[in-house]
Amino acid sequence: MKILVTGGAGFIGSHLIDRLMEQGHEVLCLDNFYTGTKRNILKWLNHPYFELIRHDITEEIRLEVDQIYHLACPASPVHYQANPVKTIKTNVMGTLYMLGLAKRVKARFLLASTSEVYGDPDVHPQPEEYRGNVNCNGIRSCYDEGKRVAETLAFDYYRQNNVDIRVARIFNSYGTRMLENDGRVVSNFISQALRNKPITIYGDGLQTRSFCYVSDLVEGLIRLMNNDYIGPINLGNPGEYTILELAQTIQNMINPNAKLIYQSLPEDDPKQRQPDITKAIKYLGWQPTINLQEGLKLTIDDFRDRIINNN
Ligand code: NAD
Ligand code: UDP
Repeated sequence: MKILVTGGAGFIGSHLIDRLMEQGHEVLCLDNFYTGTKRNILKWLNHPYFELIRHDITEEIRLEVDQIYHLACPASPVHYQANPVKTIKTNVMGTLYMLGLAKRVKARFLLASTSEVYGDPDVHPQPEEYRGNVNCNGIRSCYDEGKRVAETLAFDYYRQNNVDIRVARIFNSYGTRMLENDGRVVSNFISQALRNKPITIYGDGLQTRSFCYVSDLVEGLIRLMNNDYIGPINLGNPGEYTILELAQTIQNMINPNAKLIYQSLPEDDPKQRQPDITKAIKYLGWQPTINLQEGLKLTIDDFRDRIINNN
């Protein structure tokens, strides 16, 4: 099949491309390199079944493909808040153009939505039916409201134009290839501990997140794309940890003498987050296989290689 991956040079997109290329598909990677890098897809650049398109999805593009994995959008608060208007445009206009493309060429379209659509949830864990508790004018709104509109667009194109959609709500994912300056918690803590810098806990560290290793997530995305269930469907690891527990785990794995310091909690930072994955188990036969310790070890090895060995 001919498969388009928007945001393919990013963290999740590049791991997805590895799997699709290994399956023998023809892959078009579309990216504007805002947070993605060529390094992530370097090994495929000369492959006859691989094509790299530098393009910004806030502009229209015409392509012929069978499936579209729509991942293009900065995912780290640091990056999506650096230019919030651009983030909204990416989520709204970008998704609109990609759905228009899917409609024109009759491609199946998978949206990488997010657990952020639940906002600061007052239902725990979060099932797909929960409608969320989201601030529509805060500093996270460009991303979480942007993704909510992206979901609305996907379902309206489905109802109005029969576009063959799939919607995944991805919970916090981590793994190899995250950028050192990504700004998300796992990459921050690992690079701080490896560089002998204090580990920065925002707030009291008692807020929770559930961390899914990237290979598990990619398996879930591929299953969803090739299944009849359209979603929305939660993809995440139900193992829930406080940010303090995460800091202590990484501290113990890298440098037990690393200092933990407390900094102010960003505005609208969700207090808790854990996926209810009953639907993913039922409809996709999917559940995560890699626990936090195993996933962190793989991630730490990758960061060590880049930071200490300069690879
Ligand atoms: P990432 O920042 O590593 O990747 C995003 C990619 O999209 C980058 O390569 C970036 O250059 C590209 N991009 C951004 N804006 C673009 C634009 N306007 N035009 C073209 N390309 C653009 O992030 P990620 O962690 O790989 O996330 C991928 C997708 O998954 C995102 O849509 C994100 O919202 C979603 N998601 C990720 C997580 C997570 O924990 N990683 C959780 C929920 C949802
Ligand atoms: N966080 C932290 N220290 C950091 C980076 C993040 O304590 O150096 C916290 C952040 O406040 C949030 C959690 O870790 O409570 C997850 O943050 P991340 O940016 O990874 O993801 P999101 O908030 O989007 O779930």
